[in-house]
Amino acid sequence: MTMETSRPRLILATRNSHKVGELREILAPFLPGIDLTAIHSAADLDVSEPVEDAVTFAGNALIKARHIAQATGIPAVADDSGICVDVLGGAPGIFSARWSGRHGDDRANLDLLLAQLNDVLPEYRSAYFACAATLVLPDGQEFVREGRMTGTLRYTAVGGGGFGYDPIFQPDGYDVTAAELTPDEKNKISHRGRAFAELGPIIASHVFQ
Ligand code: IMP
Repeated sequence: MTMETSRPRLILATRNSHKVGELREILAPFLPGIDLTAIHSAADLDVSEPVEDAVTFAGNALIKARHIAQATGIPAVADDSGICVDVLGGAPGIFSARWSGRHGDDRANLDLLLAQLNDVLPEYRSAYFACAATLVLPDGQEFVREGRMTGTLRYTAVGGGGFGYDPIFQPDGYDVTAAELTPDEKNKISHRGRAFAELGPIIASHVFQ
């Protein structure tokens, strides 16, 4: 481990810096008085990445959190998320990050999904984002909470905020895409915000008490 300060109390099992920022913001209200630098990310660790070979969001989130908790002896939080399109039977789902073939190529993934749905009428363009959030403790205790954000898919990408499929996703009750929301607005209604709103109090009581 390459940790310059004291031993961290919680590790976020992700190397995605956008996600680390988003998770710190989402968790902050549940951890009043906690120095958020006590929360490290997997990017700070010299730990291999596990193979995410489960077929559900919860399964993959647990693989990531177990891996870090077992390797470090420190409580670990992970999430796994994706977009599920009704007319595609729930795809891309767990394959969201690599829908176009290359892991993490957000623009190619979004372009492929748009092309696949080109001829689909507005009334059949419903979709939802799903997130499974997990906490795994070194003693083996595991907690999983899930959240969803429902909406419809646009025909073109709009907005410069967010990431991934945000520019083509219009949340229910809004006339803008998720990429046009402020981070605060998105966190209040997002799948990740909702899953962590449930997991936050569990983290507070099991890790920071
Ligand atoms: P993972 O949870 O890091 O494996 O992310 C899965 C993929 O789902 C990401 O690469 C994005 O393409 C997509 N995704 C998950 N959450 C969001 C979101 O809040 N907005 C847009 N895309 C998302």
